[in-house]
Amino acid sequence: MRVITRASEMASLTEVWKRQGRSVGFVPTMGALHEGHASLIRRARRENRRVVVSVFVNPAQFGPKEDFTRYPRPFAADRRLCAALKVDAIYHPTVNEVYPEGFRTVVEVAGLSDLLCGAFRPGHFKGVATVVLKLFETARPARAYFGEKDFQQLQIIRRMTQDLGLKVKIVGCPTVRGKDGLALSSRNQYLSPFERAIAPKLNAALKMGARLARRKVSAGQLAKAVRLEIMKIPEAVIDYVSLVDPETLEDAKALKGRLRLLAAVRIGKTRLIDNIPVSC
Ligand code: AMP
Repeated sequence: MRVITRASEMASLTEVWKRQGRSVGFVPTMGALHEGHASLIRRARRENRRVVVSVFVNPAQFGPKEDFTRYPRPFAADRRLCAALKVDAIYHPTVNEVYPEGFRTVVEVAGLSDLLCGAFRPGHFKGVATVVLKLFETARPARAYFGEKDFQQLQIIRRMTQDLGLKVKIVGCPTVRGKDGLALSSRNQYLSPFERAIAPKLNAALKMGARLARRKVSAGQLAKAVRLEIMKIPEAVIDYVSLVDPETLEDAKALKGRLRLLAAVRIGKTRLIDNIPVSC
């Protein structure tokens, strides 16, 4: 397994593979890898001859008061996991390699970026779309793998890929959870033992909402019931609970067809997000 820090070297390597007829699968991450990331890597391994994982904590997607400096960076462990999963190359650039002096360009997927998490994390999805486009340009993969755990991010990347006519297939992968239902996240390690014990109640509240959809309630009543359930979690502060159209991410007007129920909640200093499908 190669560990590459230069964009030019990464680009030449994937170019050579492609000329040899070997398809490239790409898994962008911020490191601190867990079973959620591993599930994306395994899928990429099954579907491609070559697999590249990027490990880059992207400063552009963190707000000024967010956790950029304290975000975990256990690179030695990430490297071991990637090697065990038979990754061909890790792309691990410096901030300066991705954003050299004078960098000015941003990619904005208008509308989709301002809703839900975008309303609470201004500029976050601009940072995500910009870095993902840049990483795609470096690695030029045939397929790129993203988790449904970050559902809004997945839809924004799909939209950007379609709008710009990029030749990469976006593959969405199901959320990997602990046995208690908590979606795995690199940020879960910030939780105190008490917070970790109550965190699964977020997923339990969403599941309760999905069950409610089978009864004759309105979209508004469903979101309200989930909000009330989350409010019972000690110390939880709700950013949003929304039942939306999975493509436009706009509020569902009626309980009809395939919808997505999403929530963001702060427990102590940790912000948790989760989402589940709702079919009516
Ligand atoms: P991150 O390192 O948090 O930026 O995540 C990198 C990729 O892994 C993103 O596409 C995430 O959606 C995905 N991911 C993170 N956690 C999970 C999880 N629990 N299940 C599935 N995918 C995940």
